[in-house]
Amino acid sequence: MTLENDLWFNPNKCFINGRWIQSQSGKTLPMVDPSTGETICEIARGNAADIDAAVNAATDALIGEWGQKTAAERGRILTALGQKILTKVDELARLEALDVGKPLKQARADVLALARYMEFYGGAADKLHGDTIPYLDGYTVYTLREPHGITGHIVPWNYPMQIIGRSVGAALAAGNAAVLKPAEEACLTALAFADLARQVGLPEGALNVVPGLGAEAGAALTAHAGIHHVSFTGSVATGSLVQASAARHTVPVTLELGGKSPQLVFDDADIDAALPFLVNAGIQNAGQTCSASSRILVQRGVYDHVVNQMAKCYQNLRVGPALNDLDVGPLISARQQQLVSSFLDQGQDLEVAAKGVIEKDVPNGGFYIQPTLFTNVPATHALARDEIFGPVQVVIPFDDEAEALAIANGTDYGLVASIWSRDGARQMRLARSIKSGQVFINNYGAGGGAELPFGGSGKSGHGREKGFEALYGFTKLKTVAAYHG
Ligand code: NDP
Repeated sequence: MTLENDLWFNPNKCFINGRWIQSQSGKTLPMVDPSTGETICEIARGNAADIDAAVNAATDALIGEWGQKTAAERGRILTALGQKILTKVDELARLEALDVGKPLKQARADVLALARYMEFYGGAADKLHGDTIPYLDGYTVYTLREPHGITGHIVPWNYPMQIIGRSVGAALAAGNAAVLKPAEEACLTALAFADLARQVGLPEGALNVVPGLGAEAGAALTAHAGIHHVSFTGSVATGSLVQASAARHTVPVTLELGGKSPQLVFDDADIDAALPFLVNAGIQNAGQTCSASSRILVQRGVYDHVVNQMAKCYQNLRVGPALNDLDVGPLISARQQQLVSSFLDQGQDLEVAAKGVIEKDVPNGGFYIQPTLFTNVPATHALARDEIFGPVQVVIPFDDEAEALAIANGTDYGLVASIWSRDGARQMRLARSIKSGQVFINNYGAGGGAELPFGGSGKSGHGREKGFEALYGFTKLKTVAAYHG
């Protein structure tokens, strides 16, 4: 299968200065459909020279038309882009499903989220302002929020549209010009997004997209002296490289590096309400989600009941090609399939509560893996501590609140956590003491709203995306103190 009929833009070019340009390397990379393992198109293999051209275009944009736009005008363009995206929901969802391997309904939700980010940041652009500060007699003091300048965005393959929405959307709203390096494994919707931005009149150079390899285009972007802020989502190992590279120019970095997010289920919880969240948060996008809930901590009084109910859900999970729109699609790549398989091998001595079912007729070349629920897993086991990034969950028993908290806080990560309990005092105590950037009470994810600041601590990274916090992160604060006597 090729994508000729699905594309209205040229996938094997870079988008620089508002135009589609061949990579200066002249090389391309194969884009593989994870559902079949087949190449569906070629994308540009951008390199340092393309990044340089993109940074130059962004520099010109800031001096020129984009830099002269008022905040309200920037907001109007982003809002129009959100509306344009809503006219392309089916096309974008299909592209994302073919590119990432996620079931169509999940891809569709990502398109709607992308549109919502544009709407949110379009509306927020002219509501971002500084403060006045009461000070000594004879002074008037105020702060100005100014864009960093040129922002670099390195986006992974698991949620290209959502991550572009929250990071590029906020950066543009705040008045920056952006250079985006999407993942080599999934960059089609990044290119589609750039083309739609062009269609709604985003000025040349305000957004530039250079696809390619992380070690080439990505490394060139983080090392470029013309970049003023880097936003990265991906692995801990690459995030550390990105931070070290940006540090050479003392450039601020936002890192979003995934997690090992727990859900704590107490004896007094509404188990029926919790169940769909307990499972979905682990298997959505085949578990390849930074905020996936891969650890389910359950108090002993309801332990057997919860495990039995989760096991029933797992037995009903159907795995197949993205376009078949089942519960779980393939993993992104053969490499990811091997990585997750090696974790499953490490769990050979553990108790398996249930597995999902891979459809009989899935294409041989696809990167499928059986969703697996492990039970009675020691909190110190690798499967309970390391990020797996596949449809694998572990259930861990606990006796009381203190033990639950110790287990929840017992990994190097701290991205998301949820508490299932009817005890209000316990909810408040735990919400304060859990090491996590987001805490949910009697839900998980709260629908992932654009309004909700998101980010981690420890190995989950630092800095906040989404909501107004992202706008603060994409600006620098200037203090003006005027003495007038
Ligand atoms: P990476 O962290 O390596 O990739 C994320 C992004 O960084 C991609 O765009 C990649 O480019 C780019 N990149 C790679 N190397 C560099 C570099 N030296 N400088 C700048 N950018 C670079 O993740 P992987 O795709 O290798 O996945 C490995 C593991 O990372 C997963 O198993 C999972 O555990 C974790 N991960 C976490 C994510 C999250 O949402 N927190 C998302 C994706 C992965 P390219 O891919 O084009 O080479």
